[in-house]
Amino acid sequence: MRAEVISIGDEMTSGQRLDTNSQWLSQQLAMLGVTVIYHTTVADELEANVHVFRQAAERADVVVATGGLGPTADDLTREALAQASGCELVLDEAALEHIRKIFSRRSRPMPESNTVQAMFPRGSRVIANPHGTAPGIAIELARPGGGVAHVFALPGVPAEMREMWQASVAPAIASLGGTTRVLRYRRIKCFGVGESDLEQMLPDLIRRGREPQVGITVHDATITLRIAALGADEAACRALIDPTEAVIRQSLGTLVFGTEDDELEHAVLKLLVERRQTLATSEWGTGGLLADWLSAADPAGERYVGGSIIRSAAAWAVLFAEHATSNAGPADVAAAMATACREECETDWGLAIGPFPSEADAQPSGELHLALASSAGVKTVQTTFAGHPSIRRPRSAKQALNLLRLALIR
Ligand code: ATP
Repeated sequence: MRAEVISIGDEMTSGQRLDTNSQWLSQQLAMLGVTVIYHTTVADELEANVHVFRQAAERADVVVATGGLGPTADDLTREALAQASGCELVLDEAALEHIRKIFSRRSRPMPESNTVQAMFPRGSRVIANPHGTAPGIAIELARPGGGVAHVFALPGVPAEMREMWQASVAPAIASLGGTTRVLRYRRIKCFGVGESDLEQMLPDLIRRGREPQVGITVHDATITLRIAALGADEAACRALIDPTEAVIRQSLGTLVFGTEDDELEHAVLKLLVERRQTLATSEWGTGGLLADWLSAADPAGERYVGGSIIRSAAAWAVLFAEHATSNAGPADVAAAMATACREECETDWGLAIGPFPSEADAQPSGELHLALASSAGVKTVQTTFAGHPSIRRPRSAKQALNLLRLALIR
């Protein structure tokens, strides 16, 4: 079965609000094994709404729309569905009674304008909205070539929409048949090489049409491989996903640091917990990203004890000059930071990000020095800046975390 998700409202088309309903509904439809092929966003304009519903009915088996079910003049969904189906709007007494009750529970008289929310295209069904005044509408729209599309219109308010989806729409779609398979995902998180290098290390996994399908995305230098499997049930999906995950892990080795929502700081903290070791950091130019991420991942401060954040040579001199010689190069500067934070915080590890080019410099000349201090001494690593200025800070902080992660694994 193929689906279209429609989001209705000027708020979305004018960019005032992000259409999160479509995102959520698409995830829910996928869980039911229904493939979403179109997202349509349309303004509060009757003609455009009628056109969008007719178009969706032609190209999708299931159509789920949100928004435009309120009582005001710009709420046009029920009128649009009436026109698209060619049926007049009729009053549903039970729905009107429900709306009256909602108002009396709030000790308010029902404004006359709310009566319109109890009007439904003839032949449609009411989708109950237990906590709001806008009932949803379920209707079949005939296709020009024969057959029907099943249309479900829900209110825009996300909490009401979700409740109605779970209680009424998801079971209705499941009972349509044609959704005998469910879709499940697993995300494998990787760091340490570029996207195309990583792809080349995988034996023909990222191929359209492969079962299970493997997709690749990059966010701030973290690469996510998403395995998507269609199966009869959860266990069948797992049985499809497990071997593909094994191939990925075998091909990528230590480039894989976690799954699902794991970030590098979680991988690092897990290893520190296993080894009962502690960490301090000192970072230049990253604005405290290391401290922020590690603190969030270790709220009790058991393994990550803290550190320093600097932005200038003057601040560095105040904090670290005594740990370095006067003609120290950038690698020595980073080494002094790692050694000093480890000694002063009395931790097993000291991790440092050395001198950082200014953020205003669109094309930095390129060297970045990372340093890792432990009881075995201090090791420095030189890396280069590349890519858009917006990812320099997170990428550098991730490179530092990865340096520690690999040392902990070894
Ligand atoms: P109401 O009875 O509240 O008027 P409605 O069906 O008319 O319900 P809208 O007026 O279109 O819904 O939207 C109500 C609110 O729900 C919006 O102000 C917005 O905050 C939120 N909303 C609407 N559509 C979306 C969407 N696609 N994604 C996220 N939020 C949305």
